[in-house]
Amino acid sequence: MQDNPIKIAIALGANLGNAAETFQEAVARLEAAGVRHCRLSALIRTAPVDCAPGTPDFFNAALTGEWTGSPEELLHLCQELEIAAGRPRKHGINQSRPLDLDIILFGDTVLQTPELTIPHPRARRRRFVLDPLAEIAADWAFPEDGMTVKAALDGLKG
Ligand code: AMP
Repeated sequence: MQDNPIKIAIALGANLGNAAETFQEAVARLEAAGVRHCRLSALIRTAPVDCAPGTPDFFNAALTGEWTGSPEELLHLCQELEIAAGRPRKHGINQSRPLDLDIILFGDTVLQTPELTIPHPRARRRRFVLDPLAEIAADWAFPEDGMTVKAALDGLKG
């Protein structure tokens, strides 16, 4: 357990079920598990990329909050919520899912273990992550080089 709350950012995705309801439920469960000051962005709708033909569109959002546990504890909490939403524990890459939760930022933490990479390694390449995150945390910075979420998003748009 950390002494001080750490600011965290999580990306949410879903392309099965009612994403808006699933995301609200995830926020409620995160709050119940100790994430404070949760703020959820609006949802965006994205066409699937590198997925099987007929894959439904994805809905994406971002949330920010404060957490006093470890990064691994937060990951395990996210994985519990994915399973509670109906996602099989073992799943293929780019497979349809009722809920996907990725930890994008964990304060200034830079971490690479077999289980967890923070900041999320693909976050800065994905508009469907940066667009909703910029709505609620435009001036948050990636700790490796201090680039803000807004600057990373502007870079992708350019
Ligand atoms: P996914 O299929 O996208 O849900 O990927 C989940 C896998 O990515 C899990 O095995 C996690 O241990 C791993 N992982 C690595 N870094 C992260 C991160 N920053 N957030 C969430 N999962 C992560």
